[in-house]
Amino acid sequence: MTRLTRKYLLWLALGTAPLLAAYVAIAILSSPAIYATPGLGWVLFALAVAGVVALITLSVSLARKILAPLDQVAASLQKPADIDRPPHGSELEIEAVAETIAALQTKLKDMTHSRDVLERLLARISDAILVTNAESEITRANNAAADLLDYPASELIGRSLSQLIDIDLRSKARPGEPAARSSDGTFLRRDGTAMPVSYTVAELRDSDDQLEGWIIAAQNSAERRRAENRIKFLARTDPLTKISNRMQFQHQLQQSIARARRARQCLVLLYMDIDRFKDINDTFGHGAGDRALEIFSQRIVGQLPEGAIAGRLAGDEFAVLLSGFANLSGAIDASDNSANAMLNAVGRPFRLEAQEIYVTSSIGIAIYPRDADNVIDLLRDADSALYQAKRAGGNCYETYSEEMRNAAVDRLMLKSKLRRAFERDELRLHYQPKYHLATGVVAGAEALVRWDLPERGLIFPADFIPIAEESNLILQLGDWVFNQVCEDYRYWQRCLAAPEKVSLNLSLRQLQQLRFLDRLQGMFRYHGVSPTCLELEITETTLMDDAERTVQLLNALYGMGLHLTIDDFGTGYSSLSALQQFPITTLKIDQSFVRDVAIDKDDAAIVTAIIVMAHNLNLEVVAEGVESEQQLEFLRQHGCDYVQGHLFGEPMTSEGLLQLMLDQAQGDTQYKQLFA
Ligand code: C2E
Ligand code: MG
Ligand code: MG
Repeated sequence: MTRLTRKYLLWLALGTAPLLAAYVAIAILSSPAIYATPGLGWVLFALAVAGVVALITLSVSLARKILAPLDQVAASLQKPADIDRPPHGSELEIEAVAETIAALQTKLKDMTHSRDVLERLLARISDAILVTNAESEITRANNAAADLLDYPASELIGRSLSQLIDIDLRSKARPGEPAARSSDGTFLRRDGTAMPVSYTVAELRDSDDQLEGWIIAAQNSAERRRAENRIKFLARTDPLTKISNRMQFQHQLQQSIARARRARQCLVLLYMDIDRFKDINDTFGHGAGDRALEIFSQRIVGQLPEGAIAGRLAGDEFAVLLSGFANLSGAIDASDNSANAMLNAVGRPFRLEAQEIYVTSSIGIAIYPRDADNVIDLLRDADSALYQAKRAGGNCYETYSEEMRNAAVDRLMLKSKLRRAFERDELRLHYQPKYHLATGVVAGAEALVRWDLPERGLIFPADFIPIAEESNLILQLGDWVFNQVCEDYRYWQRCLAAPEKVSLNLSLRQLQQLRFLDRLQGMFRYHGVSPTCLELEITETTLMDDAERTVQLLNALYGMGLHLTIDDFGTGYSSLSALQQFPITTLKIDQSFVRDVAIDKDDAAIVTAIIVMAHNLNLEVVAEGVESEQQLEFLRQHGCDYVQGHLFGEPMTSEGLLQLMLDQAQGDTQYKQLFA
């Protein structure tokens, strides 16, 4: 209350009293009675004055009484909120009420919000959710529950849970825990059929820990069980061939080893793969490759003795485990028999992409416990034996021996040493002459690389080209060979008017490299050697890898004057007509056909057919790997053009070849005796 207001009230009080007094005085004085009694006027006047004074005093004190509490209220209202000041009793209550109201508002908001969220959640959740009261009557059911039980959601409400589910809720829900582990059970659907489900149960309790009901979450477990079985199947089985995958096979092997250990028995592990499987993929595509793997697998499985297990370990690698051998000799006999049976079964022709295909395979064998007593070592030993079988030319089996382990370690060592072979000048180039069969004239030579590793001696390409091909080393190696051939050729040109053509072997990686043509042209220019002096040997597989690009590239090479030869012909899967698109001039029959040409009717027929067909296509034919006079004779009779092989000596050094060519130029015919 302002000071001014206070003053007005005071004056009001003071003003009212005299007015009242004046009114009383006037009333007395105007009365005629007072003039009748002498002295009474003065008495009445004194009484009036005393009354006025008393009235004023009363007014003031009344005004003060009223103003005092109003002042207090005004002061408290005018003062700013003072938090340090201990609140007055009534203020405390007001604050508490305000707080409660605020809390209630928030709670109300939260509840409304969370109920909305809950509704939406229940509607969208894929699990069936049923909420019951303490009497097990359903109070809430979401869409998924309605679907699962085949009821409209509204019809579920009020039903007793026991009509639908055979669950003892009390034993399933653990007090105080959100949800017990899921259990398997059955729900009864509307049409009476039983639906297998997996479900969890949780108790609902109020704030006083009184049981309010239960919440049940359930899933159709038929689907889950199907999925579980599928996952189990996929985890253990190779999807293409439907036999054990690597993991499962190793697991089975481990179990078999444990059993064999207890029974003191032997096991046989056959590790096998398809020879030149890459060629099938490259020639016919991966779909056909898969089909070949399926057929391969079926044939292996068809040969399994009782109790044997087969698995696909990777790509074209398969394994077979034979068990139950009382002694080593029994295991060895069984391994020989099984390996032969498998090689025969796999070797039978089959049709692929409307063509008849022959595949062969190689097998490595390891025996438990003779070679190793655990899964890893046994597999590794069988793999080493397989590597040896491959080296022996494939289509055969090898049994593991101690030296093979050393060979495997060696391969790893070689890789790291090969990198340094270039700077250490450890590579050598040998030349294998090519003879014109009709005249015995040296008509060219093939450059064959060797690696002269000081502590090992001469290493042949079969032992390091595959290693080089695993990395870019093959490109470096290709460049080295090319430069060396050009250098040697330049030297021969100084000694001879026209040295014979030299052929180089080309790897797929070389042909694939970017700007291969430019690199080659650069090297020809650098050495001053004409492309017409060289010939490139390319395998069928390399040609077919990316036939479209290769045709263009080879046309350009041919345009430069280079001659092109197909190497190892007959081992790939290309037909002669498919090869017609390439600008090739020569075809080299693989030595695997030449080897038995004089004694094997099939090989004789194949070689004869190749010669005839090649001549029809105006291609010249070279036979490689000629080792005997019988082979030479056969080839001569069938019109083969050129021959190469150990019959005429091992591949020779650059000086050796120069000498041979010089002798020939000077009319020395000693080397021609075989051709007489
Ligand atoms: P290829 O091109 O088919 O070479 C023929 C292989 O047969 C050579 O083996 C040769 O020494 C061998 N050979 C020749 N005549 C006979 C014979 O009468 N009997 C037997 N059993 N073998 C004979 P090499 O030198 O071990 O080369 C093996 C393979 O290594 C070659 O097969 C070729 O594919 C590859 N190669 C050799 N040099 C190079 C090279 O510089 N670059 C590339 N990329 N590969 C090369
Ligand atoms: Mg060759
Ligand atoms: Mg060859």
